[in-house]
Amino acid sequence: MRIETQCIQEGYAPKNGEPRVLPIYQSTTYKYNSTEEVAKLFDMEADGHMYSRISNPTVDAVEKKIAALEGGIGAMCTTSGQAASMIALLNFLKAGDHLISAGNIYGGTLNLLGVTLKRMGIEVTFVNADTDPDTLQAAFKPHTKAVFGETIANPSMAILDIEKFAALAHHNNVPLVIDNTFATPILCRPIEYGADIVIHSTTKYMDGHAVQVGGVIVDSGNFDWANGNFPDFTEPDPSYHGVIYTKQFGKAAYIAKARYQLMRDMGVYPSAHAAFLLNLGLETLALRVERHCSNALKVAEFLEGHSQIEFVNYPGLAANKYYNLAKKYTPDGCSGVISFSIKGDREAAIRFMDTLKLAAIVVHVADLRTSVLHPASSTHRQLTNEQLIASGITPGLIRLSVGIENVLDIIEDLKQALAQI
Ligand SMILES: *Cc1c(COP(=O)(O)O)cnc(C)c1O
Repeated sequence: MRIETQCIQEGYAPKNGEPRVLPIYQSTTYKYNSTEEVAKLFDMEADGHMYSRISNPTVDAVEKKIAALEGGIGAMCTTSGQAASMIALLNFLKAGDHLISAGNIYGGTLNLLGVTLKRMGIEVTFVNADTDPDTLQAAFKPHTKAVFGETIANPSMAILDIEKFAALAHHNNVPLVIDNTFATPILCRPIEYGADIVIHSTTKYMDGHAVQVGGVIVDSGNFDWANGNFPDFTEPDPSYHGVIYTKQFGKAAYIAKARYQLMRDMGVYPSAHAAFLLNLGLETLALRVERHCSNALKVAEFLEGHSQIEFVNYPGLAANKYYNLAKKYTPDGCSGVISFSIKGDREAAIRFMDTLKLAAIVVHVADLRTSVLHPASSTHRQLTNEQLIASGITPGLIRLSVGIENVLDIIEDLKQALAQI
């Protein structure tokens, strides 16, 4: 099946007379006929659901669909994108380990890596992902165990050279973890370029309607966890009567360990209802992403040609620094997110924001309604103008998440607001 078909058909195949639409299995628990069958579940010798903190049939169907979309061997949903990043990394990192991350990543992930994981004894080095491989290689230490980056960075819209990062990670015998939230598997499938683990905040385009926070971890099945660097995969797990994940689960060792060990202990599994909503979003993902991309490109071109605009940052524009990487990794479009700067001061940007009619001011991106955010008066409001510029944010910078309305209406709204500055 091609990806548009997979969005609709993968994950759930009803048998004769069963509901056509994926049912919401609103049950915490599952009934078995004998103690022996339950024992087999606990020994992980039989497939089946035990308890909805670890798996659930509705969530399972959505996991299978997302694994298929990304070309992975398995997937596990989580209650948020943040939970996905945390479990994806803690599944193989521990105190004393080090990871290398692109510096240009989502603010929440920066905090997770730089503050919370640091408190757990996991050290991070943030690198400029655009530098050459030799400079990047110099960031590796003897205890480096992971490399991390985003396909399309939120909010800078930098495109990651995934093959360069994968080559470095694999040269050092460690996995590459990619956050593919903005691209979605419709625009880029990082596993095809060497990523070992792919994560998403499903809160964004996958859900697409701004109704449900969620996340997912996808395992490519390609990384060799028995290469000597990751003893937790090759030595008996005392919390699971001595299971050796690489022996018991083979290529699916990573995702099995994430579920049976970490999800069991941390309990950030989504509800059946949350998964049902996510599935509705996934069914139209290909269609929506196509429209987000074509609308965003037209809006970016309009802004690029406007005399009141200082600059437009969208990798689909030929003048953009990441245009060539975008042609390679996201040839069908660069998502609906654009950042641009209005000439003038903070006040000019605020006047523009407050006169928009269609585009709503929200602290969110990547759903089907056009929305805007002004970092200088919201997420970065504590900073002075000088500090803003130092962190790459001009006083007039606006983050625009282009929706799937008629693009002429979106452009007219921007035009009338610009006219009122
Ligand atoms: C939003 C976001 C996250 C965090 O996801 P939540 O679902 O909000 O927890 C992680 N990565 C990226 C790129 C995001 O945009």
